[in-house]
Amino acid sequence: MKKFDYLIVGSGLFGATFAYKAKQAGKKCLVIDKRSHLGGNIYCENIEGINVHKYGAHIFHTSNKTVWDFVNSIVEFNRYTNSPVANYKGKLYNLPFNMNTFYQMWGVTTPKQAEAKIEEQKAEALLHQNGREPQNLEEQALLLVGKDIYEKLIKGYTEKQWGRDCKDLPAFIIRRLPVRFVYDNNYFNDKYQGIPIGGYNKLIEGLLSGVETKTNVDFFEDKTFWLEQADKIVFTGKIDEYFDYKLGKLEYRTVRFEEEIICVPNYQGNAVVNYTEREVPYTRCIEHKHFEMFGNDVYSCPKTVISKEFSTEWKPGMEPYYPVNDEKNSALYEKYKSLAEKETNVIFGGRLAEYKYYDMAPIVEKVLGMF
Ligand code: FAD
Ligand code: UDP
Repeated sequence: MKKFDYLIVGSGLFGATFAYKAKQAGKKCLVIDKRSHLGGNIYCENIEGINVHKYGAHIFHTSNKTVWDFVNSIVEFNRYTNSPVANYKGKLYNLPFNMNTFYQMWGVTTPKQAEAKIEEQKAEALLHQNGREPQNLEEQALLLVGKDIYEKLIKGYTEKQWGRDCKDLPAFIIRRLPVRFVYDNNYFNDKYQGIPIGGYNKLIEGLLSGVETKTNVDFFEDKTFWLEQADKIVFTGKIDEYFDYKLGKLEYRTVRFEEEIICVPNYQGNAVVNYTEREVPYTRCIEHKHFEMFGNDVYSCPKTVISKEFSTEWKPGMEPYYPVNDEKNSALYEKYKSLAEKETNVIFGGRLAEYKYYDMAPIVEKVLGMF
């Protein structure tokens, strides 16, 4: 008899949701995490009364009512609506690409004028494609929004974020962004979105309530010991590391955050400002209080906390944030996946173990589907 039904490696959203559902099903779980805190990348630290998203801005969004009801049963969510602003050489544009952006870019005021302008902007790309599906991010972006928006709002930002030419990146990355001919700056098309009231730690605390957890524990420091502790393992770390990198190393992008406490109540007037030109070294600047304080509520707290995000290639010792789903890495991942399928006692799940550009809601959906 082993001590636990499940050993869950990683206390991020995948591991924590799994632990919650397994506990409900009467299973005994142990969750371990190598970090000094629980919650993985959604962890927040309270600084000056503000919940600071330590691993990058996180906005929960979904159209799946089951997922939305589930997370709200753990903690109530607020009405935050993400509406980032892009700063290109000092000029501001609304995101995602909508009538406000088209007005700011070209002065067009009606959907008909905007559609005609985009058609004109796309003409060269259409000719170039000649009916062929877009093969990379550049081709896809030019077909979606045309030349001006690609050059001012996409190219520089994307190449900073991914450290690769837009021609070497998969087309799907840019299809994440909506393009719409209405005046609507909501970054997402989903039915539901928000931030947990009181911050993401409340969500993690709720999911892990009553579950045994251990932090500062790296599974690989004593893999044999940990494998003996439970009948089944849920592994949410890096899949290539699980197999000791024996087929080669997968590549990741990482982000370095430069955090600053500033003695003003309202620094940039918005949670997210993207700097889309190549010359500004960071991709975006986050002002955390706007996730949970709306309108003039921001003035109730005299200080503010901002983080500038610098995107770089991942190296051992850094946090692996984004899988790089280009052809080379996807092919290598498929080989690791075949090995994983042979490990009948181990469930590989989450952003790192499935090497997938997962948002939070699909993670929850996946785990709910497993039970
Ligand atoms: P993680 O949160 O990475 O958790 C994995 C955990 O496993 C970590 O705590 C890690 O320490 C632990 N671990 C790894 N290896 C070991 C080991 N050997 N031993 C012990 N523990 C280990 N999603 C959205 O829906 N909206 C957003 O706005 C959004 N913004 C994002 C911004 C950034 C910068 C990033 C990087 C991601 C963003 N996401 C967003 C995605 C979101 O972070 C993920 O979907 C979610 O956090 C993934 O959860 P996870 O459990 O798979 O991984
Ligand atoms: N993107 C862009 N300009 C922007 C914002 C996003 O070109 O101002 C592109 C970029 O390639 C990015 C992709 O759109 O990788 C998806 O953006 P999203 O905001 O969804 O990325 P994430 O939140 O995962 O960082």
